[in-house]
Amino acid sequence: MKAVRYYGTEDVRIEDIPEPELVEGSVKIAPAFNGLCGSDLSLFFSGPLPPAPTEHEPHALSGEVLPVVFGHEFSGVVTEIADDVDHLQVGDRVVVEPLMVDNTCWACQQGQYNLCQHMGFIGISGRGGGMAQSIVVEKRWVHPIGDMSLEEGALIEPLAVALNAVNRAGVIAGETAVVGGGGPIGQLVTAVLKAKGLSVVLSEVSAARQQIARDAGYADHIVDPTQESLLNIVDEVTDGVGAAFAFDCAGVEVVFNQMFEVVRPTGHVEIVAVYPEAIMFAVADALTMQERTMGSSIGYANVHREAIDLVRSQKLNVRQFISSVIAMDDVVDEGLRKLRDAGETEVKILVKIDQ
Ligand SMILES: [Zn+2]
Repeated sequence: MKAVRYYGTEDVRIEDIPEPELVEGSVKIAPAFNGLCGSDLSLFFSGPLPPAPTEHEPHALSGEVLPVVFGHEFSGVVTEIADDVDHLQVGDRVVVEPLMVDNTCWACQQGQYNLCQHMGFIGISGRGGGMAQSIVVEKRWVHPIGDMSLEEGALIEPLAVALNAVNRAGVIAGETAVVGGGGPIGQLVTAVLKAKGLSVVLSEVSAARQQIARDAGYADHIVDPTQESLLNIVDEVTDGVGAAFAFDCAGVEVVFNQMFEVVRPTGHVEIVAVYPEAIMFAVADALTMQERTMGSSIGYANVHREAIDLVRSQKLNVRQFISSVIAMDDVVDEGLRKLRDAGETEVKILVKIDQ
């Protein structure tokens, strides 16, 4: 079968490799579309980074070393099921929750498997990936999507990231939320907040990303914080009280601090972005003296069903966040390099998998 495999820094190859074999408790899928994301970029330009293995050090759970099949945000069609799989049939459209976990650590036992101490990703750590003509996946990770399009299906994974963050923040319909940063996850967080009945102020400096948000139509207010005062606008729309919730989807110090400026006393700030470095933060002024709370979220656990239902019920349209669809053969130049170089005009690039 044809597969895109990751070998290390700026080394991704399109190869012909053996098709994986169905095993007990698993489902064979023909991937249809695979989205590219920031972690793929980090791996391609600066990797291999955990949870990817290296050439010599295998991943703890997959036991595999590089190369690995690339791609973890994917949809596909079931082509074969093991005898002990009863929630799926051949021909079903599905999405994969692309995880591998040990099932034994404290986090796994709490059901918080996204925090598993041996956490790995299908498409990064081994066990196949979305950019291949076939993959065999443990049945628990395979979710049917009904008649949803396979293009939309490829966005369920990043949508699950956004949904997990919004759920962890404990949002309340009718309240106002501020989203700092309009990258792919910030756009999806904005859409989820709107779908859950909040009024949303999106803060984003890039004109291209502001336009993407305007076209998507989920933000009630779109603010360029370099041109106007985010604080003043949030004050205006909340009668001087401040927002109940804020989501940091940017990962830069100035945004982090802005999120605390715009939430009201007792308000909640959820950190969604992953910070590469330590930052300065005035704990007393920003947090303690107003009894604000701060939370964080990473990945997802137990939210794929809700993410699928949000799209199927048309409370949220993810199709508009697909900015390009490219061929498997073009994954490096039209995919990874373009996403880096044209990052602000692209939201989600989908790779169409050869059938
Ligand atoms: Zn675990």
